[in-house]
Formats: sequence, C-alpha cells, structure tokens
Amino acid sequence: PEHMPDLVVVGAGLFGLTVAQQAAERAGAHVLVIDVRDHIGGNAYSYMDEETGAEIHRYGAHLFHTSNRRVWDYVNRFTSFTGYVHRVYATHDGEVYPLPINLGTINQFFHAHYTPAEAKALVEEQAGELAGTDPQNLNDKGVQLIGRPLYEAFIKNYTGKQWQTDPSQLPADIIKRLPVRFNYDNRYFKDTWEGLPTDGYTAWMERMAADPRIEVRLGVDFFDSSQPWNKAALVGKVPVVYTGPVDRYFDYELGDLKWRTVDFKEVRYDEGDHFGCPVMNYSDADVPYTRAIEFKNFNPERADRQNPDRTVVWQEYSRFAERGDEPYYPVNTEADRKLYAAYEAKAAAEPQVVFGGRLGTYKYYDMHQVIDTALTAYDERVAPMLAR
Ligand code: FAD
Ligand code: UDP
Repeated sequence: PEHMPDLVVVGAGLFGLTVAQQAAERAGAHVLVIDVRDHIGGNAYSYMDEETGAEIHRYGAHLFHTSNRRVWDYVNRFTSFTGYVHRVYATHDGEVYPLPINLGTINQFFHAHYTPAEAKALVEEQAGELAGTDPQNLNDKGVQLIGRPLYEAFIKNYTGKQWQTDPSQLPADIIKRLPVRFNYDNRYFKDTWEGLPTDGYTAWMERMAADPRIEVRLGVDFFDSSQPWNKAALVGKVPVVYTGPVDRYFDYELGDLKWRTVDFKEVRYDEGDHFGCPVMNYSDADVPYTRAIEFKNFNPERADRQNPDRTVVWQEYSRFAERGDEPYYPVNTEADRKLYAAYEAKAAAEPQVVFGGRLGTYKYYDMHQVIDTALTAYDERVAPMLAR
C-alpha cells in the first residue's frame, strides 16, 4: 500500500475497536481497521427487524455486564445503558423453572417449601459423593454444586446439547460462571453493572469508531493477497493488531483449534409476546435446540416502537465448527489448550503483531473482558510500538 497508517487493526469487534479508539485518541495515530464482514461490531453486532421492531443480535444474544469500574466508565463514554436485568427461564419435563438454580427452582423441583438452610443441607447431602474434593471437570463440578438430581435435570442434557462433549472431559470453569443461590434471587449475573446499549449495539460501536483518524474498511480479508492490506504486505512493516483466529493466522500449520458454532433458526409468531421473557432454555434432550431468544423482550422500554401483534424468536442449535463456520465457543479440552500454547509461543515471536480478543487468544471472554484486555494491550503493547 502507498500510504501506510500508523496501526492496522484486523477485526472491527470490541477488541479491535477499543485498541483503535485508544490509539487515535491517546497517540493521535492514524488507524486502519479492516474486517472481512460487511459490518462493524464483530459478534456483538445487531440490527433492527422492521416487521417486529426487535433488535436482533445476529451472532447470538449479547447482554452487557461487568464489575470492572475501568470498563464501565469506558463503555459509558460511547453509550448509555437501559435498566435491563437478565433473567432466564428453563423448560424441563413440561414445566417452566427460573434459572440460575435458586430456591425457587429447588422448591418447585422438589414440590417443597424448604428454607435456605434446609435446601442447602439437602443439596449437600445429594452432592455427598464428591464432598471435600476439588473437581476439575464439569460433570463432577456440577454434581458438587447442586447435587445429582438437579444436575441431571438442568445441567447434564443442556450441556450435552451445547458442547456435544462428555461433561467429564469439559473444564469445570464453564459452569463456574453460573451461580447457585439459596434464596429467591434469579438475577442471572452477579455483576455490579448490567444493561443493554440504549440505542443498540451497532450505534455504540459506530461511536467507538467515529474518530476521524480511524478508517474502517469492510469486506476486506487480511489473508487475501489480492488486496493491499494483507498479511504479507503488512507484517513487520507496520504495527498490527490481529483479532481473527490464531490458528488461521499461521495457516493451521500446527493443527486446528476446536470451536463450537451455533446455527440460528428463525421463527415468527402472530402474537405480541410468545414466551413472556427474552430467553427460554430447554433442559431436556428431546428438544434439539439449547435455547430460544425472543429479542423484543430484551427492550421492553421500546414497546411503543414494537409491533404488538408479531414477534420473532431465534432457536439456537449448537454444533462443532468446521473451517469456514463462525467460531463461537472454544472447546478447550486439554489437547486444545496444549495446541493453543504452541500457537501462543509462535504469536509472541511475530514482529510487531499483537494478538487479541476471543479468537486471537482462544479464550471464552465476555465483552467486558475483551474490552479490559484491549485497554491493557493498548497500554502495554501497542502504545510502545506507536511511540517508536
Ligand atoms: P469478534 O467480535 O469475534 O471480532 C473479531 C472480528 O475479526 C470479526 O468481526 C471478524 O469478522 C474479524 N476477522 C476475523 N478474521 C478476519 C480476517 N481474516 N480479515 C479481516 N477480519 C477478520 N459477551 C457478553 O459480554 N455477554 C453476552 O451475553 C455474550 N453472549 C455471547 C453469545 C455468543 C453466541 C457468542 C459467540 C459470544 C457472546 N459473548 C457475550 C462474547 C462476545 O461476543 C465477545 O466477548 C466479543 O464480541 C468478542 O470481541 P472480539 O473483538 O474479541 O471478537
Ligand atoms: N448451562 C446449563 N444449563 C442451562 C444454562 C447453562 O447446563 O440452562 C451450562 C452449560 O454447560 C453452559 C454453561 O452453563 O455452557 C454456561 O452457560 P451460559 O448461559 O453462561 O452460556 P452462554 O450464554 O455463554 O452460552
């Protein structure tokens, strides 16, 4: 390319946009952001559905939540947030239960009226087989957290559908994210702040990229050498922040990192509200999808701009990702973690390239974690490169 920018960012998701925004604002850098997709925002991108007035999250439902003050202050520069509080319900054996597992779930499940102490004692007894151990796999961790009956009702089959991997081969961290509560609090997240961007995800991210020193080019693939902003033309010549898949960067030379992807099936209903809530999980194996999202219900404050007679639902079918599918969830078995460590060592040796984000570091990060790691990567890695 004739005019080299000061920094090239591959990927217009939250990691890439955060670094680009910081580089422009703090170093006055001219930043080129490329993305192979035809829109910014990465997996957090959303669009308005004209028929229903729902904001559809194209790559799966995204709920913002954080307890990190630096991240909360940062994101509030670009958007305000609604008062949305995330709650999830689950259908099991013909009944609807509140999630995450709480005293309401437990009492409904056992047709009981246990107090918090009684419920705790019961679960401890039912988890007794694993008392005093520190389980590293999801199966044992799940049984230890809630006892076998609740584990088998709400975790086992859902996890089976979500991961199609034996839960005893999955890391325990996957469900450490899910709280278990011995009271009736059914807030899904335990973070200090949560909400949805008031005028949508895309408006938020457009404001992150609004600095005139940031240029965004869409439909540009970093690995396509027929266009000027490609790997061979840039690496070693200009600082690069790469947020695509780390194995793809190295042409899969050590093997493919395993991911799961989700297929979405859209269903429209002739009614204003189909579930009465935004997210319905299906705990049993007889329903082939894991959960269904009714997007209108994420934004009840927009009721006057939504269609009262129609609604749109997306069912989520989880499966292993092949090359070319959207990689969503790192599978993260022992073998994957070893392979990633080998790629990480190669990445560290790339001249002037910083790998970041969910794909670039093969990590199950939420948005707030991606923004936090991007702010740190800017300070520690990108700013020094720009200063040289
Ligand atoms: P991405 O958003 O994936 O952006 C990477 C970008 O790089 C993409 O736009 C891609 O097109 C581009 N790219 C890749 N290869 C190339 C190439 N060769 N050339 C050019 N561009 C390229 N987080 C939450 O906080 N709350 C949630 O509720 C939540 N729900 C989620 C649900 C699902 C189904 C998924 C998959 C994720 C969810 N997340 C959630 C996580 C959230 O999506 C991520 O943390 C965040 O969006 C990741 O940002 P990123 O910049 O690392 O990656
Ligand atoms: N999970 C489950 N039953 C549920 C919801 C979640 O077993 O009804 C388990 C499952 O293994 C899942 C993990 O908890 O992968 C994390 O769930 P979360 O809803 O946080 O996942 P995400 O929104 O990232 O898909």
